[in-house]
Amino acid sequence: MSIDWLIEHYNWQGMLVHLLGLVVLTKITWTLVFRIPAIQEMYQWNRREDKPKKSLAKYRPIMKQTAQVGLYLHAAFFFLLIPFVVTLEAQPVWKYFTDALMILLVYDFLYYVTHRFIFHGKILRRVHGLHHQARDISAVDSRYVHPLETFIGTCLFMGTALGLAAAFGSFHAVTFIIAQFIFNNVNQINHTKFNLDYFPYKTVNYITTKHAIHHIDMNKGNYSTLSPLYDWMFGTLD
Ligand SMILES: [Zn+2]
Ligand SMILES: [Zn+2]
Repeated sequence: MSIDWLIEHYNWQGMLVHLLGLVVLTKITWTLVFRIPAIQEMYQWNRREDKPKKSLAKYRPIMKQTAQVGLYLHAAFFFLLIPFVVTLEAQPVWKYFTDALMILLVYDFLYYVTHRFIFHGKILRRVHGLHHQARDISAVDSRYVHPLETFIGTCLFMGTALGLAAAFGSFHAVTFIIAQFIFNNVNQINHTKFNLDYFPYKTVNYITTKHAIHHIDMNKGNYSTLSPLYDWMFGTLD
């Protein structure tokens, strides 16, 4: 692999579309979603629940460390690896979504196995136990995660996307945006307090309820983050 090859295959435009697209989509979505009174009410409820936790001495240093690890790791993936596996060549619209679905399904399986057997197994039980100190979760707990766990989780998601791109060919920037938008947001949303058990909130209500059960103690099921598929398949739905 020569320097010329690296320069020729470094698709910085694709990476930039991925990065900016993700930031803009996230910003627009959250701006619109928070205008809905029912969601605003949930937001205020989580703020009230988060406040006493944030004032505990243990929360801020962990949140800061985990944010730094996440930032540096994402920067490394974005600038060093993604440019080699992203494309801007037009594809049929359905392919943007099916490719994103493939990334998310493979990632969720790998996360399920890691979460169930490594985080809840002997190897990293103590590391993951830090996140499980939160028995009654609210929004802030999505960021109360050991930096090593953040490192592993980020590598798992980015590694899945890069590995599949290496196997099946580059993914379009739009595919990366869809997959990462869902990955980022579900990981935050599943820790929120949420009690809107009616259309169109039923899915979010289901996701938050399942993850809240997972946090009751370290012996509960619901190991997947994105969908209940693997918990259902392997009999660990709780
Ligand atoms: Zn767990
Ligand atoms: Zn959690």
